[in-house]
Amino acid sequence: MKEFGNANHYKVLYSALRFCLPARTKPTQQTILGRKIMKIPFPAITPPPQNTAVEPVSLPAVTEKELSLKFRAGCLALYLVETLGEWTRRRFERIMNEDIWRDWLHHVDLPQPVQPISEEDLVQMRELRAAIYVVVQAVRRGDIPPSAELACINGWAGKAPPPVALDSQGTGLDPYTRVTQHQVLALIARDAVTLLSGPLRDRIRECASTQCPVLFVDRSRRGDRIWCSASCGARLATARYRHRHASSSHC
Ligand SMILES: [Zn+2]
Repeated sequence: MKEFGNANHYKVLYSALRFCLPARTKPTQQTILGRKIMKIPFPAITPPPQNTAVEPVSLPAVTEKELSLKFRAGCLALYLVETLGEWTRRRFERIMNEDIWRDWLHHVDLPQPVQPISEEDLVQMRELRAAIYVVVQAVRRGDIPPSAELACINGWAGKAPPPVALDSQGTGLDPYTRVTQHQVLALIARDAVTLLSGPLRDRIRECASTQCPVLFVDRSRRGDRIWCSASCGARLATARYRHRHASSSHC
């Protein structure tokens, strides 16, 4: 059996490794117990840079249920804001195409545009939505809203809304006909103007749940609502109960 560790063994080992080593790790010879062996210095290690930044928090994936349309906001303009999930966290889009947009219009009792909805139409809808969100948040903080977002809302609100007409009985509203996407956005922008210029401006809340930053209008009599929906309040109550239960079981 060949002796392990003799000079020839290390020469073979070095010849196999030298192509993998940086130039500065030139092997040197050392004599140990009368034998010359190849000493392969450990390559210098550059210490990793000190990372003082906060570790990024991995956010949970968006579920199918979260992507479904939600109507917790309590007024038209904020229903539109709600179509983008979690503005300050995952920011996921609920209105991804024309079909979902038309479904949303149906749920909020807005007329269906007669023309097909283009990608540009959806982009304009999202611009108006972002403008409403930014202006509402600025007003809630007591700040002056940015002029570009104000101009966006005012621009759409200034467009002609769909005409209204009485039905054949003369006592009801004739369903909208020949409505355009621009007229629909005008209706939403007008609702934002009404909300922000009226008494409900001071009733715009953000849900108290940290996992549900939904903007909603508090229409409660006392004006002390903090949850966007009963399920949000119930979820926190359940979490607190479980936390208390877990704490007491460890005592
Ligand atoms: Zn909520």
